[in-house]
Amino acid sequence: MKILVTGGAGYIASHTNLELLNAGYEVVAIDNLSNSCKESIRRVEKITGKEISFYENDIRDKEALINIFNKENIDGVIHFAGLKAVGESCRIPLEYYNNNISGTINLLEVMDRFDVKNLVFSSSATVYGDPKTVPITEDFPLSVTNPYGRTKLMIEDILRDLYSADPEWNIAILRYFNPIGAHESGEIGEDPNGIPNNLLPYIAKVASGILDKINIFGGDYDTHDGTGVRDFIHVVDLSLGHIKAIEKLGDKPGLVTYNLGTGQGHSVMDIINNYEKACNKKLPYVITDRRPGDIAVSFADPSKAYNELGWKAKRGIEEMCRDSYNWQSKNPNGYR
Ligand code: NAD
Ligand code: UDP
Repeated sequence: MKILVTGGAGYIASHTNLELLNAGYEVVAIDNLSNSCKESIRRVEKITGKEISFYENDIRDKEALINIFNKENIDGVIHFAGLKAVGESCRIPLEYYNNNISGTINLLEVMDRFDVKNLVFSSSATVYGDPKTVPITEDFPLSVTNPYGRTKLMIEDILRDLYSADPEWNIAILRYFNPIGAHESGEIGEDPNGIPNNLLPYIAKVASGILDKINIFGGDYDTHDGTGVRDFIHVVDLSLGHIKAIEKLGDKPGLVTYNLGTGQGHSVMDIINNYEKACNKKLPYVITDRRPGDIAVSFADPSKAYNELGWKAKRGIEEMCRDSYNWQSKNPNGYR
C-alpha cells in the first residue's frame, strides 16, 4: 500500500514515515519545508534502507497535488501539513486559516477527484478547550480559544460534513496530546525554527547550553506541585498509532475519532526532574507568570484507541526525556 504523507518532512511525520516503511508501506511525502528540512527524509531512508518519494510542494498548489496523484498510485493519506504555533496563530490568523483550512480543502478535493477516500487527520487535544474534568474522552464538548485550535476544529467539522455527504469516505481523526521525545537512534527528532514555544524542545536547548534557563509558566495551578499537567506521549508511540489507524481504515469504519495519549498526567516540574536525570545535570529554571490561554490540567482517556485499534502507548517519561536528550546532543543544531 502506498501512503501519501502531507507535511512529510516534519517532526511527527518523519517518525511516522519510519514506522510506515518498517511496516511494509510505501511512502510518498509532500512538504513545502516551511518548518522542516529535507534532511529528515534522508535520515529516515538511511535508518530504514528504504526510499521515500519526496515532493517539495505546497498542499495549496492543486496542480502539484494532481501531478502526485497522477504519478503515484496513492491508497490513503496521512495529513500532517499545517502551521501549529498557538501564539503565532494569534498574530497572523489569516495565514493560519489559509494554510490549514485552504490547504486541507485543496487536498480533499484532489483526493475526491482521484477517488482516494482514506484519510488520517492530525487533530489535537486543543479541541477540548479547558475540560471540566479529566481524563478526557472523545465525546467531551469541543471548544477552542485561538486561531490554531479553531483551524483544527474547523477541519474536523469539514471532515464530519464530508463524511455525512459521502459515506464512502473513511476518516480517522486523531487527537494528539503532547508528543515529545525522538526516535531512539537519535537520527530524527524535533527541530523547531528559532526559540522553541513548546516545553520539551526548550528544555533540550537549556540542557545543551544554548538557552540559559527554563521559564516555568505558572507555579500556582491546582496540581500536585503547582505547575501545569499534560499528557506527554512519546512520538514513536504516537507514530505507531497512525499505523493502527491506517490499518483500521481498511475495515471501512466510516469516520472515527481517537485520543492518542498515555492516560497519565505529568507536570512541568516532573518533566524537568526527569530531564535532569537524562542529561545528568541540574537545569536552571525560574517560575514566571502563567502563559495566557494555558489550562491547568489535560490528559487523555486513551481506552477507545486501545479497544478499537489495539493501540496503547508503551514508553514512559524517562524514555521520552532520554530520547529527547539523545537527539539534542547528537544534533545540537537540529538538521542544519
Ligand atoms: P511540524 O511543523 O514539524 O510538521 C508540519 C509539516 O508541515 C512541516 O514539515 C511543514 O513544513 C509542513 N507544512 C506546513 N504547511 C504546509 C503546506 N501548506 N504544504 C506543505 N507542507 C506544509 O509539526 P508536527 O509537530 O510534526 O505536527 C504535525 C501535525 O500534527 C500538525 O498538523 C500539527 O498541528 C499536529 N499536532 C501537533 C502537535 C504537537 O505538539 N507537535 C499536537 C497536536 C497536533
Ligand atoms: N511550558 C512552560 N515553559 C515553556 C513552555 C511550556 O512552563 O517554555 C508549560 C506550559 O505552560 C504547559 C506545558 O509546559 O503547562 C506544555 O506546554 P507546551 O507548549 O509544550 O504544549 P501545550 O500543552 O501548550 O500544547
